[in-house]
Amino acid sequence: MGSGSTGRPHPREVRDGTESVPSREGKEKNNLNALFCPQCGRALKIKEIYRQPRAFCSECGYIHYEQLKVGAGAIIEKDGKLLLLQRTEEPFKLHWNLPAGYVDICESPIQAVLREVQEESGLKVEAIRIDDIYFFNDDPRGNGILIVYKCKVIAGRLSESSEGTNPTYFARDQILDQLAGGGHNQAIRSWQKKKT
Ligand SMILES: [Zn+2]
Repeated sequence: MGSGSTGRPHPREVRDGTESVPSREGKEKNNLNALFCPQCGRALKIKEIYRQPRAFCSECGYIHYEQLKVGAGAIIEKDGKLLLLQRTEEPFKLHWNLPAGYVDICESPIQAVLREVQEESGLKVEAIRIDDIYFFNDDPRGNGILIVYKCKVIAGRLSESSEGTNPTYFARDQILDQLAGGGHNQAIRSWQKKKT
């Protein structure tokens, strides 16, 4: 197979490169991060289909429907303070966020939040209820929703992890300005405004 009419290289030729990553501009606008057809391997083109610009394959007819990412995060309080961690990786490196992460394909959002809290903070929690759900479009990895659970600590000891450092309980008037996007800033500001 050649490189196709778009001039973009075939995926087999750029396995280890960043060339297959779409432009930042395209991602922010459309989240179109599939450049090659998963059915036949041809380069995808973009046109308006069902009201949105979408990537499609002119060879076999495949249409790429981008879906929202799903994250799950935890509100964990102690003495009226909120647990935040400082991110160690981009995006939002060194910004503060809730213990949270993406929901894996084989787990429920509740399973994801329990797993992520334990991985990132060392705490074992149970989810009490959904606190709120936030839509975000400010994460370079893609748009999504963050499901935030109010959680209660049942075991474990607060500790650092490779993903989150400086685990700290913040009072409402101690929350710092540098908050992570991806729904975290919305959830943290919302918590801050609530009455104790
Ligand atoms: Zn195709």
